[in-house]
Amino acid sequence: MTETSEPTIPTTRAATMEKIVALCKRRGFVFPGSDIYGGLANTWDYGSLGVELKNNVKQLWWRTFVQRRRDIVGLDAGILMHPRVWEASGHVVNFNDPLVDCKTCKSRFRADHLIGEKLGQHAEGKSPEELTAILASANLPCPHCGNRTLTHARQFNMMFRTVIGPVAETGVQVYLRPETAQAMFVQYKNVVATARVKLPFGIAQIGKAFRNEITPGNFIFRDIEFEQMEIEYFVRPEEGSAAFEGWLDAMRGWLDLVGLSGEHVRVREHAAAELSHYSNRTVDFEYLFPGSMGWKELYGLANRTDFDLRQHQEHSGEDLTYFDQANNTRFLPHVIEPTFGVDRTVLVLLLNAYDEEQTTDVNGKPDTRIVLRLHPRIAPYKAAVLPLMKKPELAGPARALFERLEAETGALVDYDETGNIGKRYRRQDEIGTPFCFTVDYETLDDHAVTVRDRDTTDQHRVPLAEVPAFLRERIA
Ligand code: ATP
Repeated sequence: MTETSEPTIPTTRAATMEKIVALCKRRGFVFPGSDIYGGLANTWDYGSLGVELKNNVKQLWWRTFVQRRRDIVGLDAGILMHPRVWEASGHVVNFNDPLVDCKTCKSRFRADHLIGEKLGQHAEGKSPEELTAILASANLPCPHCGNRTLTHARQFNMMFRTVIGPVAETGVQVYLRPETAQAMFVQYKNVVATARVKLPFGIAQIGKAFRNEITPGNFIFRDIEFEQMEIEYFVRPEEGSAAFEGWLDAMRGWLDLVGLSGEHVRVREHAAAELSHYSNRTVDFEYLFPGSMGWKELYGLANRTDFDLRQHQEHSGEDLTYFDQANNTRFLPHVIEPTFGVDRTVLVLLLNAYDEEQTTDVNGKPDTRIVLRLHPRIAPYKAAVLPLMKKPELAGPARALFERLEAETGALVDYDETGNIGKRYRRQDEIGTPFCFTVDYETLDDHAVTVRDRDTTDQHRVPLAEVPAFLRERIA
């Protein structure tokens, strides 16, 4: 992992966004949303392998940060909350994107992103007036039609609205939550009263969030409906800085766990002008995306101080102070917030794992082996059982091995008996299955199978009786 002060490194990886999008559709990881109706911009659906990969990420995160820690408890709150929550949090006033329109072709762009892409300047956090001044002095043409007819930048609130009640005019207007965080503040008092927690402690949640994003999406990098894994970690005010450092380490540890640390991830400290209205320190974990995308936010870590609890205390009229028995004092805790995007994690795992190897096919012709080098911990299938041919005498022991593996390892295992064995190996390589166990005629005599390793393609024999232990050891 690199720090921001280090130079940007060139990317020489095999993965491009186009290749990942194509592989995801071809193999059933991710489909365009509402596909048969021509799609709905910036919506995506996870297919059979995508949902396994995504669930593996969420389960590993939950085990790591909630179940294995004594200081963090979970929450699963509703998507719809009282509209005053979003007034208190500042979202009604502050959760805006600065937009410019083209008067000629009516295209719409995010002003700060346009400046970043066309002028190479970091413009996030600047006011609409500042953005308008930069755009005007550069006299930028519309990226879509080329006319120099961009409007001034103006703020556009990103929250989706809907109405509770049968009649729109008289119903209550509510918002689809734009982040999972607020529920952790709103339920803070109930959690303290019931979960026997003492400072420092955290509340964690995994769930959907919705944002009316205007900028084109770069696949699942920027959706209008996405999932977040967030923790609000409550600390004594004087312990905020130390807890922030602790979370920097814990987030690095998570990246290691899923096989994502390395030169394509860096930590970027936000400048004062860029800080959100609630934060006194923020860092982004950024990933070096291929092509023109470059370094972009993967995760964030923010010190939200006591901003949210103070706001909710004022707006709700409820006392949200913490009673510290040790010192017989009352105060509002400060909050450190590590936030992880599920969809961005999936995208980055795929980009990072994608590899192409030049090789030859069975006829000696040049060929490309596509392989997803996913960490076995998060790969959709941990193994595949393949009878060499579709014959009953091989299917019997192969089926028995498949059932034993599922029962004794608890892992998701694939079973595939159609097509030639080379093509079946290639399919497993492409979907990231770390191990293939092939049952052949020798198996009937020596009670062993061939294990093929996805990354090296090395093959060796393992006794049937030892296969479950072999797999368990490698996916633990
Ligand atoms: P960006 O600057 O890219 O818009 P953000 O700073 O608004 O991101 P946060 O509000 O910090 O993002 O959200 C927390 C996490 O949620 C992000 O680190 C990211 O992983 C994820 N996330 C945010 N917006 C989206 C989106 N539109 N689609 C998918 N994931 C998202």
